[in-house]
Amino acid sequence: MDSFPAKLEKYAELALTIGVNLQPGQTLIINAPITAAQLVRLAAQKAYELGAKNVYVEWGDELLSLIAYQYAPLETLKEFPAWKAQGFQEMAKNGAALLSIQASNPDLLKDVDPERVAVSNKTRAEALEEFNQYVRNGIMNWAIVSHPTPEWAAKVFPDADAANPQENAVDLLWDKIFSVTRTDQPDPIAAWQEHIAGLQEKLDVLNRKKYKQLHYRGPGTNLTVELADGHLWVGGGLRNKQGTFFVPNLPTEEVFTMPRKEGVNGTARSTKPLNYGGNLIDNFTFTFEKGKIVSFTADTGYETLRKLIETDEGAHYLGEVALVPHYSPVSDTNLIFYNTLFDENASCHLAIGAAYPFNLQEGTMLTKDQLIERGANMSLMHVDFMIGSSELDIDGVTADGQREPLFRKGNWAI
Ligand code: ZN
Ligand code: ZN
Repeated sequence: MDSFPAKLEKYAELALTIGVNLQPGQTLIINAPITAAQLVRLAAQKAYELGAKNVYVEWGDELLSLIAYQYAPLETLKEFPAWKAQGFQEMAKNGAALLSIQASNPDLLKDVDPERVAVSNKTRAEALEEFNQYVRNGIMNWAIVSHPTPEWAAKVFPDADAANPQENAVDLLWDKIFSVTRTDQPDPIAAWQEHIAGLQEKLDVLNRKKYKQLHYRGPGTNLTVELADGHLWVGGGLRNKQGTFFVPNLPTEEVFTMPRKEGVNGTARSTKPLNYGGNLIDNFTFTFEKGKIVSFTADTGYETLRKLIETDEGAHYLGEVALVPHYSPVSDTNLIFYNTLFDENASCHLAIGAAYPFNLQEGTMLTKDQLIERGANMSLMHVDFMIGSSELDIDGVTADGQREPLFRKGNWAI
């Protein structure tokens, strides 16, 4: 068995080869918290070995962000330095790649006024809108991987060794991250290639079927979701503008496509908690009419959910529909990770907010107006929420009204 440093090195390598698929001559932007410094240094070294031209690291510190949320004047939260947004834009325009390393405390913001967090998130999203389009539209190659924090690990493993709870929980979480990202397999790169091929088989079936509508049934859920005209199912990875195949999320188990903005009706009940910017929303429902959220409930985090939906008009509509079998490496851990990157890969999910243009045939060539006409939702945000469980059934409805079982008891029926 590999030692921890050996596994961490393999993890960095997977992130840059299977994930980002960094090409010689590219600049690599790494977004990372200071707590992930060891992984960042390994990734930077690997990047240069792979021929990177330069590695630019944008360090973050969530405790400093917390201090700003708590103490900075409200005006300050409404400002984002233009030079920084322009810098990111310039790097993206010049063909840079991006590796984001996430390490967060799910409860960081539980005592912070959600209004102040919402203002700050919106300011950031507006300032970085152009850069985010390079990412969201897959114009640049990019990937996200996770890194434990003591607080996050303690939340996932609340019963870890009482003598030294936090360190032990961090080790346990690393083990799970290494297993669900296939880092602990004898040949992680080969394991990923096989996994991507398996996802491709499902994509081929779905893209041939061209279902007009999906019908979801489960406890608290009865929902019909029309798919956008000319929708394209995508999963595993995609190609950037230069044709580089990259896998944006490690892990990834989902195949997903674009709902028609105004074609969603009924109620969806969440099956896992949603951690939004350090605030937890749990046990919630959305009711849709003609695509729009007309009412919602939440046992925990109602105010945060309300702020989230009120971000803009598009936050009232769906932008993604994703299918994930209930039996997958992430789901088999039987853990709630309180982190979307993991939880969304354990469960069928939907997202409110922006649709991905690459989920339409030729979608990345269309103008904003053309995208809207084809049923794409526009928003500053995109937030996934989980509705999958072992009790979820999904039917695919064909253009001529035929119903076909797609999922039964949470798993593929095709
Ligand atoms: Zn998704
Ligand atoms: Zn999503």
